[in-house]
Order: sequence, then C-alpha cells, then structure tokens
Amino acid sequence: MVGNTNADSSGKLQQLREILAEVTDLNRAAMVLEWDQETYMPPGGVQGRAEQLSTLLRLSHVKFTSDEVGRLLDDLEDELASAPFDSDEASIVRVTRRDYDQARKLPPDLVAEIARAGSVAQPVWRKAREDADFASFAPYLEKNVELNRRIADALGYKDRPYDALLDRSEPGMTSKELAGIFAQLKDAIVPLVAGIARHADAIDDSALHRGFDPDLQVAYALDVVKHLGYDLERGRQDISTHPFSTGFGPGDVRITTRVSRDFFNECLFGSIHESGHAMYNQGMAREIDRTPLWDGASPGVHESQSRLWENLVGRSRAFWRHFYPSLRSVFPDPLRGVEEEDFYRAVNKSHPTYIRVEADEVTYNLHVLLRFELENELLEGKLKVKDLPEAWNSRFKSYLGLDVPNDRDGALQDIHWSFVSFGIFPGYTIGNLVSAQLMEKIRLDIPDLDAQIERGQFANLLGWLRKNVHRHGRKFTPNELLERATGKPLTAAPWIAYVQQKFGALYSLEAARAG
Ligand code: ZN
Repeated sequence: MVGNTNADSSGKLQQLREILAEVTDLNRAAMVLEWDQETYMPPGGVQGRAEQLSTLLRLSHVKFTSDEVGRLLDDLEDELASAPFDSDEASIVRVTRRDYDQARKLPPDLVAEIARAGSVAQPVWRKAREDADFASFAPYLEKNVELNRRIADALGYKDRPYDALLDRSEPGMTSKELAGIFAQLKDAIVPLVAGIARHADAIDDSALHRGFDPDLQVAYALDVVKHLGYDLERGRQDISTHPFSTGFGPGDVRITTRVSRDFFNECLFGSIHESGHAMYNQGMAREIDRTPLWDGASPGVHESQSRLWENLVGRSRAFWRHFYPSLRSVFPDPLRGVEEEDFYRAVNKSHPTYIRVEADEVTYNLHVLLRFELENELLEGKLKVKDLPEAWNSRFKSYLGLDVPNDRDGALQDIHWSFVSFGIFPGYTIGNLVSAQLMEKIRLDIPDLDAQIERGQFANLLGWLRKNVHRHGRKFTPNELLERATGKPLTAAPWIAYVQQKFGALYSLEAARAG
C-alpha cells in the first residue's frame, strides 16, 4: 500500500512538474523579449512587442491557474503530508499552492483592469513628471489607489489592507513588523544624517567626476564582477538605460549596466549590484529549475544579494586595498594624486538627495520609509491623493532636512505609482537589512573575511551565500530563510550597527555622539 501511494504521488508530481515547466518556459520566453526590448530592439518594435508579451503571459496565466493544477495540488498535499518541509517535493507543492491561490483570488476582469490602468497611466505620469505637474496625474493615481484597495480586498488581510499587498511580494511579512523596524531605523538614521551634515566637508568626492572613458569603465566593471564570481559562461553584460539582471535559467543569467563619463560610481557599482542579483540566480539548485522555486525568496531577499556585494563588499576598505592599484593603472589621469584612502572615502560620501535611486547607504531607507507611510495612508483613506505632495514635502523635510523644490523631485519621481503596484518599496529596505544580517553571521563563520577580500579572494564568501541562500531559491519565506541562515528573523540591529560604525569613522562622529 505504501508502495502504491509513492507511485501515485510521484506520478502526480511528475504531471504537476510538467505543467510548471511549460509555465516557466512561457514566462522565460517573455523575459527574453523584455531583455531584448531594453537592450537592442529598435523603437518601431514597441507595439508588436507589447502584443507578443501579452500573448505569452496570458497563455502562462491560463495554464498555471487551470483547475487541473488545483486538483493535482489537492492530491499531492495529502500524499506528501509527511514529506520533510525542506524537501524539493514538499516545497514545490507548498510554494505552488501559495502562488496558485493568490492568482486565483484575483478575478480576471480585475486583472485586465489593472493592466489597462497601468498602460494608460504611464505616459500621463511621464508627461506630468516632466512638467512637474502633479494635478494632471492625480486622477490616475486615485484610480490606482482604488485598484490597490480592490486587490487587497480580493486577497484578504487580517490587520491592514497593506498586509495583503506586502504578503504578495514579501511572503509572511506584515506592516506591523515593518512599522516597528522602520521606527528603529528612523531613530538611528535621522541623527546620523544630521551629524554627517555638520561634517559634510570631511569627504571630497570631486575625483569621481573627473571624466572616465566609458568603454574602459565597462570593461573594468566586467573584469571586477568576473573576479567576484559572476560566471560569464552562463552570463553576459549589455548596456541599457535602467540596469537590471534577468535569469532565463541556470545556464543563462544576464546583467545590464549604464555608464556615465562624468560620474564613476554609476557603472562599477551598478555592475557589482546587478552581478549580486545574477550570482543569486546562478547559484540556485538545478533540481528546482523549471519550477516556481527557481527564483529569489522575495524581491527583498534578492536585493540583499545585490546590496551585499555592492555596499558591504564593494564599498569596503578591504575591497579597495585589492582593486585600487589596477583601477589607477586603467585611469591614470582622473586618479592622479588620489590615494587609495581618498578613493575609498570618496565612494562612500553621504549626503541627502531628493531622488531615491541616487540615495547613498545612510539615507536610502528614509526614502523607503516615506513611501511606506504614504502608501498605507492612501490605501486606508487617511490621506487624499490631492494632499499627497504636501504630505510628501513636509515629511521629507523632517526626515532628510531638505525643502523639495517641485513635484518632479518629490512625489512624481518614481515610476511605481503609475503602475498598480503598492507594497513594492519595502523590499529595498528589507534588502539592506538582510544584507547586514547575513554579513554579521558570515563574519562569525569566516573570521578573516577582510584579509581574504584584500587578497582578492571571494570564493569562500560566495560559497557561504551559495550554501545558505542561493541554492534554496524560493523554498523558504524571507524569515524562514533568515532563521535558518542566522538563527533570527529579520532584525534592523546589524544594519544600524554597520552604518553607525562605518560612517561614524568616515565622518569622525565619535566626539559628536559623546558630546
Ligand atoms: Zn537591485
């Protein structure tokens, strides 16, 4: 009898895996088309490409949400009830069930309305941002707020409507948990930003703006990420307006970058960031390929991998001990007279900016906090769309100390609100926190990490990430993954300790804190 059950469950699992493999293929074909759109497609291809993408994604949605998948999941949940939680079989069924229920809870007409609203609002948002004219975008944002509320109602939530949206991108996270974390962050960052502002001239970053040959920058960046462990047999780098990383499967995970002659940070740190994402995908177990498990645990955990390499490694003192001599030999003119220590300090200069995507390590999470609060209040009707710019500006002043000059540099800056996509922003902060929480544990497990980095050795670090994070893909929720890797759920303490220590030293703030 036991034998029969096993035969049944392996037959049904095989059937489920075949459907999931086809769904994955359709989605990945769409991703190849999107990659092409961002890199090489001529402008005339836009209309045709939109139709191709919508056809592929519709086919994949229909296949994935079929009654057949539901029946297979019902049967397999019974048959695999005693399989270990972290086995591939149990995890495929558990994660597919979560995706399936969420996809089925949204009525098809709501899904269609969301897609339509996004494509109508996006050009209006672009024009409004250009003209710094919030009023012309306001009616579309009102519509998007209403649609976000309908999504939350359809998915269901216990506490706040935001929870439904958050759970979709960061499974298991609640707005209550995040609100507590953001409160700790605010208490730590606001005084740190003020301290740095009083010592702003402690760091001179003018060398970064001296003019760096773009082709040499791209080649140097590719050399660095290869050295870190990004596998070019299974990857490549191209140029795009907005850098991104995309994985078509274990054998093909690509990155893009952009380059500016007048600002060194963009190409190198952007490339390290995207290669952090890409190494995550390259490290996922082949056994879970072509299933919903072959992806990051969440956008936040994905961001932790890019931030870890970009900031905790790439902006560290040890990193520049190794790389500065080669950088200087590639760019002797702009780096004339710039010593290694000066360069390390320059790439870590911190100062408040209006624009989130230009924000440094210290101030970034305040930009996210602002959006987290405003999205919650809009969703709960506590804030009216027409009052959004005023709420934005006054909070921005109190968190970052700047007067927002216009809505282009304020409430209109992000593309996110032109789509129906509340609940995405917290992932950026979760990524920052997870990167520091993992690094705290990595330093315990690899005590001479800095010495290894100074020697240009990254294999132990990458090996730790492969073993504890990458290979699992989406098997675990963010907190499950963190518990297993570090013994604790998400906590802000390691990140706060990291920025206080690093920037306290860079800006000589010890005395200021004591006084
Ligand atoms: Zn990223």
